[in-house]
Amino acid sequence: MAKAYEPINIYCASCGAPAKFDIARQVYCCAYCGGETGIREPLAEKQGFRQMHRARLEAKRKEFPLQKARCGGCGAEVIFPREEMMTSCAFCGRNMVRQEYLGVDGFPEILIPFKVTEDQARENLLAWCRENQSRPEARDVRKHIDELKGFYLPYELVKGPTSCGVSRRESKIYRCRGFWEGSFVNTSKQLDNLLLDGMEPYDIADVKEFDFSYLAGQRVKVRDTDGETTAARVGDEIAAHYRPFAAKVLETKGVTVTADTGNMVELSAVLPVYYLRAGNTLAAVNGQTGKVAVREKKDRYLMPWWIKPILGSVLFPALAYGIMTLFGVEQMGKLLVAGILFIFLLLVLFTAYHNEYGGLGRERLPRRIFTSDDEREAVTPPEFYLPIDGRNRAVDMKFTTPWRLFLMIFLPAVTVFLPLILGFLLNGCSAEGLTVGGAAVWLCIMVPLAPVFMLKFGRLELYEHPVVHYQTDDGRRRRYRGAKKSWKETWDTVKAFVFSPFVLVILFLLAVLVINTVLVVHWDSF
Ligand SMILES: [Zn+2]
Ligand SMILES: [Zn+2]
Repeated sequence: MAKAYEPINIYCASCGAPAKFDIARQVYCCAYCGGETGIREPLAEKQGFRQMHRARLEAKRKEFPLQKARCGGCGAEVIFPREEMMTSCAFCGRNMVRQEYLGVDGFPEILIPFKVTEDQARENLLAWCRENQSRPEARDVRKHIDELKGFYLPYELVKGPTSCGVSRRESKIYRCRGFWEGSFVNTSKQLDNLLLDGMEPYDIADVKEFDFSYLAGQRVKVRDTDGETTAARVGDEIAAHYRPFAAKVLETKGVTVTADTGNMVELSAVLPVYYLRAGNTLAAVNGQTGKVAVREKKDRYLMPWWIKPILGSVLFPALAYGIMTLFGVEQMGKLLVAGILFIFLLLVLFTAYHNEYGGLGRERLPRRIFTSDDEREAVTPPEFYLPIDGRNRAVDMKFTTPWRLFLMIFLPAVTVFLPLILGFLLNGCSAEGLTVGGAAVWLCIMVPLAPVFMLKFGRLELYEHPVVHYQTDDGRRRRYRGAKKSWKETWDTVKAFVFSPFVLVILFLLAVLVINTVLVVHWDSF
């Protein structure tokens, strides 16, 4: 049985049945005939659909008398049935100029029809106001509720395989890939992307090929972003959805995701939205599901990042000082300990926090979007991949394993107390007669150095070298240790190290270590 052509489906090139994408092999596979369809073929097929659709619209246009109005302020263009009145712009409030409507430019290929009536939409928005009475946004919305208007707003539907570069600050780029089952990206210059995201998702099952008959009594806003801006928005949207997964793998919120969308199918769409501009408050109601989204009125700012490290490094020494006073420690001792603790914490906390945030500026937060329910678009997690044995394979990567974490804490701790540990061993594993003060110079160098080293180099180095596992062709899980290094490369690394000034530092530290260990053991002999 032949089913009707649905523009959002991707069809098998040999038999015409709907095809599914195989991420590992990067081709569309047909469950019906087993045929494979290349990654680029659906793009050409949609181009054919586009031409036929345009011809159909062209033929039907004359039956539907339409008008166009253009806003001189924000540039929004709206198409609507001739009998309707449209005088002021719903997106910025200025006057609209009417024009005769010619041609079929600006009409989309697909749409989701309105399911929610204007009265229902108003009722949903008022219900939100009742639940959020204390917010200033609720007052604004209630005052302007009569200006709520329905529009078919312009979107781009994107669907298909995508591949992303993922990196943390100053680290190398890892790659992941996934298949996008279809999501809508708004193509209006004037409209707030976050607000519109807030009232999504739309149920893609209702998608229809666009036809003028859906326009009875409705207005269509024309898309006004160019191809480049639209592509950038598509990339941003995918990146935004993949970021949480990437952040989990890379163990940081400061992750950058760049999406390659070159192989995705795009269809221009319009979606049903009720829109309201009430002063600085913006509100939107999903015309298919009735979900409400309201944008916060004012900007908010993040606390400058350097406040926490300063507070932390003052608070703990002060606390230590207080405790020492309770135990009757003498004044000089208290000041010394508090002072050393202060410098130590300042170094550690600034290094730690600087890694996360960088820069000194006050960071502006995106305005919050309040929604009537928390349903989000379902996203299939992307998979990370690496070229192994001549082909891209799915891998799972980990950075902080329990063993690595243990080393990261254990090694600096051992380093700090090394003269004492060595002294203890030389003394026949006995603490008797050892002088802790003999290690003073070593302690003064290592106490501030070790934690900084641990955070800065331990962590950075860690993030350059993930623990990677992959599946071999016979289905076994195997650790991947990177491409093998040649002897010459290893020798070059050693040579570069031996002739660097770093060796002088090591020699100096070794000398301090030997002298301090001797002092710890034989203090009384001097
Ligand atoms: Zn087939
Ligand atoms: Zn306007």
